[in-house]
Amino acid sequence: MAVSESMTETEIIQQADKPQQVDLDRCVHCGLCLNACPTYRELGVEMDSPRGRVYQMVQVSAGAPITDSYREHIDLCLACRGCESACPSGVQYGKLVEAARADIENHTERPFLTRAIRDFVFRKLLPSRALLTAAGASLWVYQASGMQRLMRATGLTSLLGPLGAREALTPAAQIPFFFREIGKTFPAEGQRRHRVAFMAGCIANISFARLNEATVRVLQKNGCEVVIPGAQSCCGALHMHAGIRDEARRLARINIDAVLNDQAGEFDAIITNAAGCGSTLKEYDELLEHDAQYAPLAKKFKSKMKDVTEFLASIELNRDMAPVNATVTYQDSCHLAHGQKVRKAPRELLAAVPGLKFQEMPLSDICCGSAGIYNVLHTDLSMNILEKKMGNVNLTRANIIATANPGCMLQLEAGVRKWGRGGERVAHVVEILDEAYRKGKNA
Ligand code: SF4
Ligand code: SF4
Repeated sequence: MAVSESMTETEIIQQADKPQQVDLDRCVHCGLCLNACPTYRELGVEMDSPRGRVYQMVQVSAGAPITDSYREHIDLCLACRGCESACPSGVQYGKLVEAARADIENHTERPFLTRAIRDFVFRKLLPSRALLTAAGASLWVYQASGMQRLMRATGLTSLLGPLGAREALTPAAQIPFFFREIGKTFPAEGQRRHRVAFMAGCIANISFARLNEATVRVLQKNGCEVVIPGAQSCCGALHMHAGIRDEARRLARINIDAVLNDQAGEFDAIITNAAGCGSTLKEYDELLEHDAQYAPLAKKFKSKMKDVTEFLASIELNRDMAPVNATVTYQDSCHLAHGQKVRKAPRELLAAVPGLKFQEMPLSDICCGSAGIYNVLHTDLSMNILEKKMGNVNLTRANIIATANPGCMLQLEAGVRKWGRGGERVAHVVEILDEAYRKGKNA
């Protein structure tokens, strides 16, 4: 993007928050990405393929209006970045689609109710521990009181129409919430070899509280002192997906301050167990590149940011594990495989667990249809994609389906309930390690 001295900061940001010509020009329209695209595979429509979407972005960039049709095709993209891995020309499709959504957000008006809901969810709920706790507590009451079971058993959810299908995707609220651990430091087991910061997420504090605890335990077992920075917030990944970049930037600054201003010194690594969050956390440098104060800090933050599987595979792994006797398959989380190019690390960790038999599934790096809140917004298409995914999962006859992202876990759990063989479970890679460590000799 060309920046002239006379441009104000707002003008620079507005220019940056749209697809850049230099990125669009990389596409040579070869179509080699089409087969890697779940929406194209499902719908067979060129405008719902990566090449078709890039073509539409080029038109808008050249002055064509942002129409409802353009918005629909961009909205229907999972932002899974499968096309990025397939593209021989190096098109950074994830960057393009996020910029296109920001452009849509900045230049079109949504209906009042949609705007109000989006404002509440993205600007009030997700960044607020108090509101998330209140929402989580209500969800827990709905589930623990038996109301959810009753609704499902009596088929009342089906009377809710499309809302009923979404209800099936509701995550379980896990008490106690992980929020109570934020601000604490957990010592390394044995000799301290690393000092790491752990980013606990937003909704994960409620629905993946046990996963977060398992992550901390596994890091401790591997000689890490684990600090959960007290001032951390939601990472802004869902905001980036939705094109709400001003709020994503605000959250990025909060997280950078929370981690880099730690009084006890520098961290060896900043860890997340959520591939979707990790992609955004690793791209804070791009998000803040026009912020003179934060750009260098964002670069430093990025240099230390690691997915938990990537980090564990890079250090000397504690091998004091008991056997986990099961057949496991691995679903690549899109934002880990395509976004962060981390494919080997989770497989290496699973191979290190004694007793575990690994069975690769066909098309493991095709999206499961979760994609942040895509499954809630485009439930039918998401379920069609999931049904195909479960067909491939079932071919492996695995009893554990491992993955590395909480959103994928929820989606795969819904898939197991609907199309599973029966008895299999979904687990994060670190949960399997945790299980092996807890049964280990020195547990
Ligand atoms: S995005 Fe890449 S693979 Fe797809 S049409 Fe363009 S150049 Fe070809
Ligand atoms: S990000 Fe995924 S859904 Fe979107 S165009 Fe690329 S492959 Fe298709």
